[in-house]
Amino acid sequence: MPIAVEHVSRSRLETLDLDKAGFGREFSDHMLVADFHNGAWEPARIQPFGNMSLSPVCSGLHYGQSIFEGTKAFRAEDGRVTLFRLEDHLHRINRSAERLGMEKIPAELFLGGIRQLVALDKAWVPKAPYSQLYIRPLLFANAEILGVRAAEDFRFLVFTSPANAYYTAPLNVFVEAHEVRAVRGGVGNAKTAGNYARTMAKGKAVAQHGFNVVLWLDGVSRSYLNEFSTMNVFVVLGGTVITPPLDAGTILEGITRASAITILRDAGYAVEERDVSIEEVIQGAKNGALTELFGTGTAAVVSRAESFTYQGETYKLPPVEGFEVANTVQNTLRGIRTGALPDPYGWVEYVD
Ligand SMILES: *Cc1c(COP(=O)(O)O)cnc(C)c1O
Repeated sequence: MPIAVEHVSRSRLETLDLDKAGFGREFSDHMLVADFHNGAWEPARIQPFGNMSLSPVCSGLHYGQSIFEGTKAFRAEDGRVTLFRLEDHLHRINRSAERLGMEKIPAELFLGGIRQLVALDKAWVPKAPYSQLYIRPLLFANAEILGVRAAEDFRFLVFTSPANAYYTAPLNVFVEAHEVRAVRGGVGNAKTAGNYARTMAKGKAVAQHGFNVVLWLDGVSRSYLNEFSTMNVFVVLGGTVITPPLDAGTILEGITRASAITILRDAGYAVEERDVSIEEVIQGAKNGALTELFGTGTAAVVSRAESFTYQGETYKLPPVEGFEVANTVQNTLRGIRTGALPDPYGWVEYVD
């Protein structure tokens, strides 16, 4: 059943140059809002994007029950609009919900809501190569009660933001040797606000020394790679592609990570999901076995590192333009999402 729409009286698109929109600064005309109240989801609505009122008591703000997703709509070569692995985002937000004691989102609300919202605002999907429409689903506790217990009221929002082809500077990685992002049995595998809050102070501190990203090590021995603050990590050592495994529950199950593993194996690469120590990476940097270090995530797809620094020592990588594995992931994903390459995995759906 389609969701009721309150249309904007006039689209803001007329006043905007979409192909100049930076990431996350402009927002499309409409947003989706749905409330869970008195034990049930109230009918969702699509309304003009804009401010909303919340009680000062809004429990998600106080106690951090807040989870989100990030996905994108792409302009295919034939002009149509595609979405990528949307069901996987549904399953992931519901795993996050379970972990944080929150209400799960019904499939038809998440999938149907996003499809309808993107179809409604499809003119906001930029046409310039490499640009796309970023989609942000958000679920937060919205109980108006200060008592500390799992909330019973929630708000689900989806809004979208056009993003042009942005150049991501090569990464200068700060490998954090003392503090940790996530521990076994914690919430490292949930896409939750608190995991991001945890990384902000460190990111800000190291930025003053020229680092644009933090790489976290495991929470127990602090010797194995875990992930970047907002991206999964990959290294290429002696021709083998290695990424840390998910079984400790400390790493976000990236959909780009999973897609990269599939694409690379099908392209003939040896891919290992295993623990890789910072010592092994340093040895590789010294003896030349380390040819690539990069991050994966929906926002930038792949981000290549030109150096990493651990305990005061900086190690250089070969020139990022020659990152054959990262390039394969980026080009194959782009091709599949825009219909330029076949989609043997059934990852892509067309909105209209
Ligand atoms: C969102 C996120 C990722 C990347 O996940 P994708 O599904 O590939 O976008 C990686 N690490 C963290 C901590 C994240 O929040």
